[in-house]
Amino acid sequence: MGNVERSKENISKCMCMKCPSYSFACKMKAMPKNMMTMVKGDIDKVEHMEGLFCAFEKSKCIDEEKGCICGDCEVYKENELKNMYYCIETNGK
Ligand code: SF4
Ligand code: SF4
Repeated sequence: MGNVERSKENISKCMCMKCPSYSFACKMKAMPKNMMTMVKGDIDKVEHMEGLFCAFEKSKCIDEEKGCICGDCEVYKENELKNMYYCIETNGK
């Protein structure tokens, strides 16, 4: 699923939490699990995450395109990503 590394470093760089498409309801729903993921040592073994969508699959909650700020993200630049809306479509669109 792409080559973006599933790491704590990349999770902390991910801008999705600040994005208008990431609705308040989805953030609330995702928060406990996302926090558990951050506590875990090995992010690479995590199956799904509601964040860092360019490294994981699409979101199970976000379903409305209200703008994508991936282009402003360090992970985007470092990995020379080309797509947007990784939360809506796995591997972006
Ligand atoms: S490119 Fe987008 S999905 Fe990937 S880490 Fe950055 S903000 Fe998150
Ligand atoms: S992938 Fe893009 S549209 Fe989706 S939450 Fe992240 S920044 Fe927003």
